[in-house]
Amino acid sequence: METIFVKGLFRNSRILVGEHLNQLSGYLPEANVFIITDANVHRIYSADFPDYPVYVMHPGEQSKTTDSAVAICQWLMEQGAGRDAFLLGIGGGMVCDMTGFVASVYMRGIPFAYVATSLLAQVDASIGGKTGVNLDGYKNLIGTFNQPLFVLCDTTMLTSLPETELRNGLAEAVKHTLIADKRMFFKLIEKAEAILDLNENLLEKLVSHSIKVKADIVCKDEVEQGERRKLNLGHTWGHAVEKIDRVPHGQAVSIGLVFAAALSEQKGLLSMAEKEQIEKLLVMLGLPVSTSTDPALIMDALTRDKKKEADFIHFVLIDGIGKVRVEPIPLSEIKTFALGR
Ligand code: NAD
Ligand code: ZN
Repeated sequence: METIFVKGLFRNSRILVGEHLNQLSGYLPEANVFIITDANVHRIYSADFPDYPVYVMHPGEQSKTTDSAVAICQWLMEQGAGRDAFLLGIGGGMVCDMTGFVASVYMRGIPFAYVATSLLAQVDASIGGKTGVNLDGYKNLIGTFNQPLFVLCDTTMLTSLPETELRNGLAEAVKHTLIADKRMFFKLIEKAEAILDLNENLLEKLVSHSIKVKADIVCKDEVEQGERRKLNLGHTWGHAVEKIDRVPHGQAVSIGLVFAAALSEQKGLLSMAEKEQIEKLLVMLGLPVSTSTDPALIMDALTRDKKKEADFIHFVLIDGIGKVRVEPIPLSEIKTFALGR
């Protein structure tokens, strides 16, 4: 078990990596705790939940709406939850984002915590203090910056996670190694198979290394100006691929990481060998590294996405494995590169 601290603007957060769900009660207040979860997590783990009222959401991104947030607030009201209530989200990123959001606005804010049950939630969504819900199909349009009191990451809970969901989390974990953890990158290459076999020891290492990379960046820049942009590595191209190909987020990020690696290689920041190692690792982890979709279509989606900014974007380049730099790059240059690959 390892504890990692995240410094927030208003509150600090404690991330408990490798702690077990059955130890949860020791971290909670004695009364007035209300649990939010989704039906999948509830079906598998509710027997181990502490004995407090539970609100069960329908699983999936389509539930992360303002309507659900209002329904949860109404439920809290019916339960008699006051300003001294404590909200606990047990689930993946969807449940964590929703819990953090509701806790930020219910009675102008009550304390909250997460049990992050998906790999993506453990290495990414539960860390950094962003909460949010979607509006009219726009992701996280309404949200807050607010830190959970603690996040419990029980890696044994990942054994029940569907494989696609595991891979979604792995793509973000690889991203974190490329940003600031060269040693972990090579460890992953060496141990990819054991990771996919859910070796508990390795998973715990991977999760805690990954959290440290994100926590480090967030501590420097909680509300997103410079430093936090680094976390967008692979996401500029990735988001556009996600829109056009309608693939899971992690798969799109994987393709986006390869795009970023290729552009970095063309700019002389990354060697051909390093670029190939990145692709190799992603393939080993069962992630896609390319799409057969016409790059012009993806470029159109990227341009639409960014049209509110100027005609350049802040692109995250890989400056050798384990280091990144953010550079303004004209959209026209990205287009020329994408169409000429
Ligand atoms: P999710 O919460 O929808 O979980 C994915 C699926 O896995 C769901 O069907 C869920 O029921 C199931 N699941 C979760 N844990 C399980 C377990 N232990 N066993 C079996 N099934 C389990 O999605 P996610 O991928 O965890 O998170 C994605 C969400 O996170 C998105 O809404 C995204 O916007 C958000 N996110 C937020 C941040 C942030 O900084 N706040 C960062 C990245 C992503
Ligand atoms: Zn992502």
